[in-house]
Amino acid sequence: MATTTESPLDSFLTTLDRVGASSGTHPDVLKLMRKPQRILQVELPLERDDGSLEIFHGYRVQHNDVRGPYKGGVRFHPHVALDEVTALAAWMTLKTAVVDIPYGGAKGGITVDPTDLSDRELQRLSRMFVERLGTAIGPNRDIPAPDVNTNAQIMAWFTDEYSRLHGESGHAEAAFTGKPVVLGGSQGRESATGRGGLFVLLEYLRSQDITDLTGMTIAVQGFGNVGSYFASLADQAGFTIVAISDAEGGTYHPQGADISQMVTARNQAGKLDTNVCYPKLGVEAVGATQDDCEPISNEDLLKLEVDILVPAAIENQITATNVADIKAKYVLELANGPTTPAADESLAKRNVSVIPDILANAGGVTVSYFEWTQNLQNLYWSQDEVNTKLEAKMKQATNEIIAMQKEGGGTLREAAYRLAIKRIEAAMLLRGWAHPRGEDSVGHVNGNT
Ligand code: GLU
Repeated sequence: MATTTESPLDSFLTTLDRVGASSGTHPDVLKLMRKPQRILQVELPLERDDGSLEIFHGYRVQHNDVRGPYKGGVRFHPHVALDEVTALAAWMTLKTAVVDIPYGGAKGGITVDPTDLSDRELQRLSRMFVERLGTAIGPNRDIPAPDVNTNAQIMAWFTDEYSRLHGESGHAEAAFTGKPVVLGGSQGRESATGRGGLFVLLEYLRSQDITDLTGMTIAVQGFGNVGSYFASLADQAGFTIVAISDAEGGTYHPQGADISQMVTARNQAGKLDTNVCYPKLGVEAVGATQDDCEPISNEDLLKLEVDILVPAAIENQITATNVADIKAKYVLELANGPTTPAADESLAKRNVSVIPDILANAGGVTVSYFEWTQNLQNLYWSQDEVNTKLEAKMKQATNEIIAMQKEGGGTLREAAYRLAIKRIEAAMLLRGWAHPRGEDSVGHVNGNT
């Protein structure tokens, strides 16, 4: 993946300050939004299988809980650093406000390459992280979930460790989301980010009077949980997926790839083989020729001539360095923070619509919210029920942002920030974290209430 020294936290602050200044947000609200409420850092001494000791570093940044308990994933990645986790936590505060679910924002991470660890080591490290976070997390306080390189199995270890530490009164299953279904996970959670992204894309295109998807091409950077579900669902919906990549690179199928075959092959082999072709239109992979596809680097995938570019991996992929080469008309940000502010500005000038991360990938946390409500009620929903509710939430948020853009101008990202900040500001004023300016508008209500 392309790396850049740009700070995700600076990206967040730049956009926050710009939108805050132009939308007349209360300055104290912006001041509160600029800083996380709490930063937890933990040392995780892991005994490796060979008996040696290695110390890993873990974080949980609780950005803001004015609208409800902190919520957000935990990532295991060698690049995890405080700056990045803080930005990701702040984006969660905005994201939960965009889809209007009763949460704040948090994010966690461990600086580790999980592929270097055995399953047992990974389990020990995961359990230790929960143990070290202690009472800072919990069903009404802070609810972690999967993120880059973490999954339902890791949530199962987290949940088990939490119940071991906190006992029955701990409501352990509601302390984490993204769990396996047999341990209180929700139907549809695994596919939720990809599915939610597709709902947003379809709704946005509909608002532009685009309903015929025939021949519309998509390149997806990222073949993890989010990228692969999105690609499969978009393929089924009628789009043509021409390129997809994982961390090591990808394949370009100019005529379209058969994503379900690719997913099956990847699951069997454990990785994407970029030398095998999976052309669409019913051609068997075994009969495919080398002309049907070619390997492509992550960087070149971004520059393909496609209608829709979908960064679904990590931050800082579309930057000042490569933005001039981006040829897509739409960018659907399924990753968090894939576009830097400088690149964002340049795309806006060229009328490329960027559907921002805090809307595009909010399907995951939305179904996390559904999972948590199911856990608290001990009442479980069918996959159809989950998907129907997800669709309604994603469509509503998309249309609210489109309306906000029509009203106040600017990019979709600026409109999404305005919508989120407005909701956060309302909660901060009501709770008295910031005080109304000018007239005393709350607290002196006349007449019956
Ligand atoms: N890690 C996901 C995100 O960035 C999901 C968070 C959650 O479900 O809490 O939105």
